Formats: sequence, structure tokens, C-alpha cells
Amino acid sequence: MATLVILGAGTAGTMLANRLRRRLGPDDSITVVDRDDAHHYQPGYLFIPFGKSTPERVVRSRRGQLADGVTFVEGAVTRVDPERRAVSLADGRELAYDWLVIASGTSPRPEQTPGLADEKIWRTRAFDFYTLAGSTALRQALADFDGGRLLVHISEMPIKCPVAPLEFALLADDYFRGRRIRHKVDITYVTPLDGAFTKPVASKRLGGLLEDRSIRLATDFAIERVDPEAPALVGFDGRRLPFDLLVTVPVNMGAQFVIDSGLGDDLGFVPVDKHTLQSSAHERIFAIGDATNVPTSKAGAVAHFEAEHVVDNLVAAMAGRPLTSHYDGHANCFVESGRGKAMLLDFNYDTEPLTGVFPYPPVGPLTLLGESRRNHLGKLAFEKIYWNLLLPGHPLPVPNAMSMAGKVPAGKA
Ligand SMILES: Cc1cc2nc3c(=O)[nH]c(=O)nc-3n(C[C@H](O)[C@H](O)[C@H](O)COP(=O)(O)OP(=O)(O)OC[C@H]3O[C@@H](n4cnc5c(N)ncnc54)[C@H](O)[C@@H]3O)c2cc1C
Repeated sequence: MATLVILGAGTAGTMLANRLRRRLGPDDSITVVDRDDAHHYQPGYLFIPFGKSTPERVVRSRRGQLADGVTFVEGAVTRVDPERRAVSLADGRELAYDWLVIASGTSPRPEQTPGLADEKIWRTRAFDFYTLAGSTALRQALADFDGGRLLVHISEMPIKCPVAPLEFALLADDYFRGRRIRHKVDITYVTPLDGAFTKPVASKRLGGLLEDRSIRLATDFAIERVDPEAPALVGFDGRRLPFDLLVTVPVNMGAQFVIDSGLGDDLGFVPVDKHTLQSSAHERIFAIGDATNVPTSKAGAVAHFEAEHVVDNLVAAMAGRPLTSHYDGHANCFVESGRGKAMLLDFNYDTEPLTGVFPYPPVGPLTLLGESRRNHLGKLAFEKIYWNLLLPGHPLPVPNAMSMAGKVPAGKA
């Protein structure tokens, strides 16, 4: 009889709880904690500014996504005490645990960049689309924008869904073309990386897409501050990038309670063994999803691939057996490229995103690192898959570990 507590009922916490409910015995209790009862389908945030989704469509009850036999506690976590095996909530309640999983994700922190959250510009000229409030406010700002300098900007890596800002820039190109004012909008993609993406083959392909759409690329931009008076991004190297409209991804950090409990690194991400997902410091703590420090993308697909290993390893740990289920860093993500097409990236800790087909070579039907209509339909289908298969923890027709079948090795792409 064990008490398992999961902190966070987002993508990772929900699917993990549902999978564990099927694996653990009826005497083992599973409690999931979150601060409210609103589960957000975050990939939908990308489409709201362009009028292709709505705030109502992306939110459902958290309780409604959890299997029978999983207890949901609504409350904000303020601290974890690993010695006493206790979780404190803001309202004074305390939850005891035998095993703990941290699934508290990452959130944008605009206040970390001087000047960005200044009321002269925040949500009037400078927007994020990584929150529901931000993406909803941006819809009106885009509708009102009739020309000028648009910067699409990443403050610092890592961020969740690292391709989302790139998708935003490509969809913005589409959007302004649709409004027949593209010639009046100067779009620049500003990144701290040395190219459009982290890995060479993908970076080249994605950089090519930006060029095709006449989107400028400003690389190696380490932001020092935002000037709210004469609105501009100011880099540590002295570069000044003026804007009329800024769409930024603020610094992404782990949950504050992770930092306050001494369980995180500088950005509040939980150091874990990158294969077993067990905390490097506490054997009764695991972490999953965006909350970890593993060197792969922070994405819902990653949380899905990790879940199977966390379930296996937790069950083993609870039985006193060694942890033998090894996650390989597998990640895949669709890149919406506009004009009704999308690309697909598939990679892991050791292999960068390559060209080829996925998931069933030679037929695909999806194309890796190539734009296709099918990929776009795959991205749209993901929303239904998310609510109906992913969150309930049902198996997907996609291999859990990354496969090299169907991939074209780097250099031959
Ligand atoms: C614009 C955008 C587009 C995206 N597109 C894609 C995509 O196409 N494909 C893809 O795979 N992924 C995509 N993602 C990323 C994906 O949404 C996340 O990686 C995924 O949600 C991670 O799941 P998680 O459970 O780790 O974190 P979350 O789903 O964010 O859940 C964390 C939970 O912890 C809770 N929490 C945090 N702190 C506390 C506290 N103190 N007390 C109580 N509860 C707390 C939060 O309320 C939240 O519910 C996108 C994200 C964004 C923002």
C-alpha cells in the first residue's frame, strides 16, 4: 500500500496518473495536485492569434481528464520537504507521500527581462503567446496591426515547444498575405541560437523556409533588456532591434516551489537521470515533462514518450527492483509552416532531426523535415489525439523509442 502524489495535472501529470492507475493495485493511492481545474491544450495557443482557434476550444476540466480512482486536489504547491516526505499547499494543507512525481512544467517569466513587463508596452506592443491571456490579447493586436516592424523573438533557451515561435513567424507571413498587407510588414525572427533551430540539418531546412517567406533572421541575439520608451530589443553586444509589434517567448522557468524547495537548477528544472527520470538527489522523487532538465525538447510528445518509462521505473522502485526502463530522449514535433502545410521533426538524445519518412517506412505517410499537406493534417489531428488518446494514456500508433528506419543520414539529405 503506497501513497503516490503527482504535482501538476497538465499534459504529463494527467497521462501519468491515468497510466499508473491501470498499473498499480487498488490499495495504492494516486493524488494529483494542481492550482485550478482548467486543463489547457497549449498547442492551441499558436492558432488563437490568427483566428484559427478560440480560448473556449482549448480549455477543459482537469478532473474530467483523470481516471476513476485518481484523487484530484485543487491547490497551489508552495514547498516539498523530501526529508519529511511532505508537500505544502498555499492554503496551509499538507500532503504526505511515499513516492512523488514532479510534473509542474515550465512557464513564461517576462519579468526576468528588464523592461519587457513595463506597462508602457506589455500587452499593448509586446505580447507572448505562451499563455492563454497572451495569445488571446495578441489576436486583437494582430487584427489592429496594419504595417511596420514585427519581431518574433526567443529570449533564452530552453523554451517549451522550441519550434512554436518559428511556426508563429511562418503563420504571420500567411496571415498578412491573407490580409493583403504583407508588403507593409517587415518580419524578423530573432533568436539566441546561431540558426533557425538547434540542430544543423533542421536549422538549414527551417532557415530556408524563413528565407522563402522573406522573413529576416537575426541570430546569436542575447537580450540584455527591452527599451519600452523607443520600443526596441537591446542585446548585450549593443545591437538594437526596434519594433512596432513584439511577439516574444519570455524566459521559461520551472515552478517556483521547485526552486524554493532546493529541488531545481538555476532555471528551476529538476535534475534527473536522463534515462530513468529519477531525481538525481532523492530516490523517492521522479520528474516528467517540461519540469525536468533532460537535454531534449520540452514538448507534450516528449512527456508522452517519457510516461511509459516513468511508470515502469516507479513500479520497479516501489517493489525495490532496479530501474531498467530507459528513455532515449525521443521527441517529435510538427512545424506548421503556413499555406496549409507542415513539417515533422523526429529526434532523440543521440540523433538530430533528419529527413525521410515517418512512422512507417517507406510509405510514411508523414514527411520528415519536408513540407506537406499530410503533415498539416497530422498537426490538426493531434488535438483530437491529445484529448482522446494521449491524456487518457492509451497507446499511440507511434514507436516509443526513436527508430532510424526511413531516415536519411546527415550529409545525404
Ligand atoms: C504555444 C505552444 C505550442 C505548443 N505546441 C506543441 C506541439 O505542437 N506539440 C507538442 O508536443 N508540444 C507542444 N507544446 C508544449 C506542450 O504544451 C508542453 O510541453 C506540455 O504541456 C508539457 O506538459 P507538462 O505536464 O510537463 O507541463 P504543463 O502541461 O504545463 O503542466 C504543468 C502543470 O503544473 C501546474 N503547476 C505548476 N506549478 C504549480 C504549483 N505551484 N501548484 C500547483 N500546480 C502547479 C500547472 O498549473 C500545470 O497545469 C506547446 C506549448 C506551447 C506554449
